[in-house]
Amino acid sequence: MSMYGDKAYKFLEKLSFPRTSGSEMEHKAANMIADEIKSYGFMPVLEPFEVKWDKPVRAKLTVTSPEAAEYTVTGLINAAPTPKGGCDAEFYYMRLIDELTLRQARGKFVLLNGRPSEENYKKLMKAQIAGFLWMNGTSRDTYENSDLDTMRYRACYLKHGRVPAFAIRMIDAMKLLRTHPKTVHFELEMEEFKSTSYNVVTVVPGGDRKEEAIAVGGHYDSVEFSYGSWDNGAGTVQVLGLLEHLSKNPPRRTVKAVLFGSEEIGLEGSKAYMKAHPEDGESLKCMINLDVGGNLLGWESVMVTADTAAENYLKGILKEGGFSTEVKPGVMSSDGTVFADYTVPAINFASHTPWQGGYMHTRYDNMDMISADVLGHEVEQLIYVTGRLTEAEVFPMERKISDKMQEDIVKYFGAGLSQTEERKNKKPEDKK
Ligand SMILES: [Zn+2]
Repeated sequence: MSMYGDKAYKFLEKLSFPRTSGSEMEHKAANMIADEIKSYGFMPVLEPFEVKWDKPVRAKLTVTSPEAAEYTVTGLINAAPTPKGGCDAEFYYMRLIDELTLRQARGKFVLLNGRPSEENYKKLMKAQIAGFLWMNGTSRDTYENSDLDTMRYRACYLKHGRVPAFAIRMIDAMKLLRTHPKTVHFELEMEEFKSTSYNVVTVVPGGDRKEEAIAVGGHYDSVEFSYGSWDNGAGTVQVLGLLEHLSKNPPRRTVKAVLFGSEEIGLEGSKAYMKAHPEDGESLKCMINLDVGGNLLGWESVMVTADTAAENYLKGILKEGGFSTEVKPGVMSSDGTVFADYTVPAINFASHTPWQGGYMHTRYDNMDMISADVLGHEVEQLIYVTGRLTEAEVFPMERKISDKMQEDIVKYFGAGLSQTEERKNKKPEDKK
């Protein structure tokens, strides 16, 4: 077993508490991480950035006919508030979003099976629905074993318009539907939330190749109710393991290790980092991101946001190093994608569980699913891959994001919200 496994496990145990964006607990986690890094002899810096959104402070849903009944709901972050006193509308369960149901939904309060895609969201706004409610959780939840968290609109949805929006437990949605609801009353009160989040940044100076750098990072924030052991305390402790290794084995190339805050609300930490360090956008050779890991059940993977050559390179070196890890191309919903958006090839390490072997973004993301052996193995893998990159005579990967991958990046962020799209839209004459 790796010497890093037990240490990573112990620190992860201490870090396993909810640490949501902009909260005191997130700040506490940042300080704990910084203190740990200092113990290796490095000087980490907490880089602050502002986070802000419209926060639901009161959400209410009542079925008014045929029988009156109230249901527990939460408002969606960044949703539109209702006027004081609330709204009344007909109720409509949209089993499928298609031409027929969109016609039926006009002016109504709509129940959806889950979060709509951006495309469907746009159609719902066009259909002028009065508001919507989406189901959350599973049909086997109980009140005791589940939480109803505060969901949010994705940033790319906002430009299509917004209406009052809510989430409901799936088990309550079932109860509600059994009563054949005809009309509902809903109220949503919103308030601006503003706070500070932090990135923990550590620069490990390189040796004879110091002018070349790679970034290694992962987010340390969690969602509400989650202890964030798997997502992503595990990635955080892997970066710590790497830093401890580097403190004893100085790299030839510079390593910039960044533990990001506020990933869970839309990759805000990595966006803030790239804005604060434009020089990195130019000089970084690649970015290694770690998001989710350490799970006892499951397997490791790496998603490469670059080109086929980079993908094959990783396949090759992982085999050479004796790591059984799935390698595939793609855009991951995590901080690496922000770097790729700035043309820095992203190597995204993650881990997966068997079907229902892990429940991300719930209270069940805790130490129960974590293994010290697996964490140790993942730290060794990170040390190995980072070492191949920092110690190479000539950097082995080209700084290239394929056209297909660029398209996927633009799609991921949504129209008008990516650097990749902005670069493409620049006319050749202003490129100079
Ligand atoms: Zn994550």
